[in-house]
Amino acid sequence: MSVMNLDREYVANTYKRFPLEIVSGSGSVVRDAGGREYIDMGSGIAVTSFGIADPEWIAAVEKQIHTVQHMSNLYYTEPCALLAKALCEKTGMKKVFFCNSGAEANECAIKVARKWAAEHKGPSCSTIVTLKNSFHGRTLTTLSATGQDHYHELFQPLTPGFAHIDAGDMDALAALCETGTIAAVLVECVQGEGGVIPLDPEFASALDRFVREQDILLMVDEVQTGNGRSGQMYAYMHYGLHPDVVSTAKGLAGGLPMGAALLSEKVQHVLSYGDHGSTFGGNPVAAAAALSVVNRLTDDFLQEVRSKADLLRSLLEACPGIKSVSGLGLMLGLETVKPAGEVVAACMERGVLCLTAKNKVRLLPALNIPEDLLRKAAAVICEVCG
Ligand SMILES: *Cc1c(COP(=O)(O)O)cnc(C)c1O
Repeated sequence: MSVMNLDREYVANTYKRFPLEIVSGSGSVVRDAGGREYIDMGSGIAVTSFGIADPEWIAAVEKQIHTVQHMSNLYYTEPCALLAKALCEKTGMKKVFFCNSGAEANECAIKVARKWAAEHKGPSCSTIVTLKNSFHGRTLTTLSATGQDHYHELFQPLTPGFAHIDAGDMDALAALCETGTIAAVLVECVQGEGGVIPLDPEFASALDRFVREQDILLMVDEVQTGNGRSGQMYAYMHYGLHPDVVSTAKGLAGGLPMGAALLSEKVQHVLSYGDHGSTFGGNPVAAAAALSVVNRLTDDFLQEVRSKADLLRSLLEACPGIKSVSGLGLMLGLETVKPAGEVVAACMERGVLCLTAKNKVRLLPALNIPEDLLRKAAAVICEVCG
């Protein structure tokens, strides 16, 4: 049986896959089973930060695989400790909890908010406010946090204690706070799955001020926007926010499962022994991979990401078939004249892999994509859209 048929027969039907089997790759080029090459403008949904089979990334992973591939969290291991230090130094956060995915990073954030609020504001203060059209994960609790009804319908009852407001609606947030039951606000700086929609800077600043006045936590979901994707280490830095918790995953370890919740000074001591844990959390191989990724996200490198982002944006904005370009850094959403799905299929035909998000074409290339590939991909997308 072919891989496609095996998969259709035995893998749960949760993904609508393209009829394309990827067998190998190098940097921002991937190859299918027939040997055809494609420019990868999706990076496994913002995961392969330095592309496929990057030599420096491989070296970091390989070294650790030959050393110790896993140890329980009952013992200390070096990669996890060094990674936590690196993340704290790059953000000013004080502690890090490691897990294996974005949903788990948000679960940790939610637990921190619940415990912090119960201790500091009282047991009735447990509601977490998120934005409509947000996406925070697929576990039942992060599904409850997600502000899109269509994800909720089939999975009732959901975890209680979430309220959803429209982005920009400070009055709705203020009204909720009047009830004295709000523990935290959780937001994406750019809604990814929701259609690559950046937060309005004025709303972001108002939110940052408001949470401090009200003594509630500000938690930022940087699962997709984080780790250099936006052209800063984290997207909240573009907005000058002061988050109490930053959750991240996707690109953190450049292609291995790794999530993290970064905790500010205010909440660094909220979790204590036994409050939370994860068997694989902080796995040495994933942590070594993440450390190699994080160490490469220098100021100079992030400047290059911003230059490439400016280039890509200007190339796309000049396309007649593209109505608008949204996003931040190398996370772009294209509003196209043709339906997004049609554009993505036609791009694939011509050797460029793109994603969709709602009605948009979504681009999340590797952070180190060479300029010539970026230009080639943009030309194909432009032609297809026109
Ligand atoms: C992808 C994503 C998640 C979920 O991450 P998983 O690793 O799939 O659990 C959560 N939040 C945002 C913003 C995401 O983009």
